Formats: sequence, C-alpha cells, structure tokens
Amino acid sequence: MEIFYTREEIGEYLKKMRDVGRTIGLVPTMGALHNGHISLINAAKKKSDIVVCSIFVNPTQFTDQKDLDNYPRPQEEDVRKLEEAECDVVFLPAVEEMYAKEESWHIDLGKLDQVMEGSVRPGHYQGVTQIVKKLLDTVMPDFAFFGQKDYQQFMIISWMVKKLNIPVKLVLCPIVREPGGLAMSSRNVYLSDAEKAEATAVYKALLQAKNEFGLFSLSELKERVTRALRSRPGIEPEYFEVVNAETLEPVADNDPANIIALAAAKVGKIRIIDNMILK
Ligand code: AMP
Repeated sequence: MEIFYTREEIGEYLKKMRDVGRTIGLVPTMGALHNGHISLINAAKKKSDIVVCSIFVNPTQFTDQKDLDNYPRPQEEDVRKLEEAECDVVFLPAVEEMYAKEESWHIDLGKLDQVMEGSVRPGHYQGVTQIVKKLLDTVMPDFAFFGQKDYQQFMIISWMVKKLNIPVKLVLCPIVREPGGLAMSSRNVYLSDAEKAEATAVYKALLQAKNEFGLFSLSELKERVTRALRSRPGIEPEYFEVVNAETLEPVADNDPANIIALAAAKVGKIRIIDNMILK
C-alpha cells in the first residue's frame, strides 16, 4: 500500500497509473475508520483498479472548534485497517497541504443546504464541498464513493459535480449498522454502552416510519415518529423529516417521488444522524 502526504506526490503517482489505463476510485474519509468506511473501500475495489482512501479531518466543515479538537485521529490503526482491506493508496495530507492561509470558497447549493444538517450546522456544507472539490482535483478519480449515512452530503456533492462539470461518477453505498441497528460512525466511540443502547432509538424511529409509511398521512406519520422519539430516554431529537429524496423538499401525500426519512438527535454530547428510504 502506498502512502502519500503531499498533493504533488500522489498526483504524480496517479498520473502514471492513469497513463497505463488504470481506473481510480476515491473514498474520502476523516479517519477513525470503522466497517462503514471499509464497505466503501470494498465497493471501490469492485469498480476500480486503484483504490485511494483519503484521511483528512477537514477543519472548514466543523462548526464547533471543540468538536474539531476532539475528533478521533487513530492514524496508525487506520493505516493498518486499510492495509488489511487491501486498499492501494492512502492520502494523509496535513491541513497546510490542503489549505493556503487566506482562502475563501462559496458555492451556491440552492435549497439543499438550507435544511436539516445545513440549517443546524450553517457553513458545514460549504466546508464539505470545498474539501471534496480539492480531493477530486488532486486524485482525479473515475469514481468516488460515499455513504448513504450522510445522504444530504451525497446530494450536495452530486449537485456540485453537476454544476462544476466534474468528470467523476459518484457511487452511493448503503449504511452499515451495529448489531442493534445504530448506524456506525466515528463519533460512536464517545458513547457509553448505555448511550449506545439509547441511540438505537433513532434507528427504531426510522424503522417505525418505514413500517407505518402509507398507513397515515405524512404529517401524521411525522408527528407519530417524532412523539415516539421524544419519549425515548436519553434522546434529544433535533429533527425528523420526510422529504423528496432528490430535492430534499417537503412532499405531499401521494407524491410519486422517491421519499426518504432523515433524523438527527443528541445522545449525551454526541450527535447521531441517520436516514432510511421509505419509497
Ligand atoms: P466520515 O469519515 O465520517 O467523513 O465518512 C466518510 C465516508 O464514509 C462518508 O461518505 C460517509 O457517508 C461514509 N460512512 C460513514 N459512516 C458510514 C456507515 N455507517 N455506513 C456507510 N458509510 C458510512
């Protein structure tokens, strides 16, 4: 497995690979790797000759300095996991490698970043698009792999790729869950066992939405699920939305669009986000 720390070095290496006809798949991560990340590596291996995993805790997408400072960074363990998963290339840039001191970025994301994560964490998706654009420019992959776990992020990156005409195919991969249903996340290491059990309420709420979809009007469904989520111990719900899966806008009953439910809640100090396709 090759490890690169600079844009120049990885760029040169991948150019050689492209020149001999190899296809490249990129899996961008912030590290603290778990089986959700590894599932993306495996999906990338199926579709591309060379799998590149980037590990970069991107400061511009954090809206809380403490969250950035506390974000887990078990780099040696991550590299070992990637080796085990037979990833081909790891990109481990320092912050100064990715950002100049004075730098600004703004992309119009339409309505996509005005709801849910975008409204709870203003500026978050500007930071996400900023780093993903830089990684796509550096790696120039044929495919880039993202988890459904961050569904709104995937829709926003799709929007950017379309808007900026970036020649990459995006692949959305299913959510990998703990045995109890909790979606795997790097921040889960900060949950106690009791909190982990409480956090499964978010998954259960989404399951309830899926099971009750079609039995009630969407507003009743939303109310029922929100009420159930609120009644669970240790959970502080932030939002539960049922929206058009393409536009993330509200849907009317009997709308023929694909429909997705998305939820965010706090368990102790940790934010949990999760989602489930309803139709
Ligand atoms: P992160 O390191 O949290 O920025 O995540 C890197 C990538 O892994 C993103 O595309 C996430 O959506 C994806 N990911 C995170 N958790 C999971 C999961 N439980 N299942 C599938 N993909 C995931």
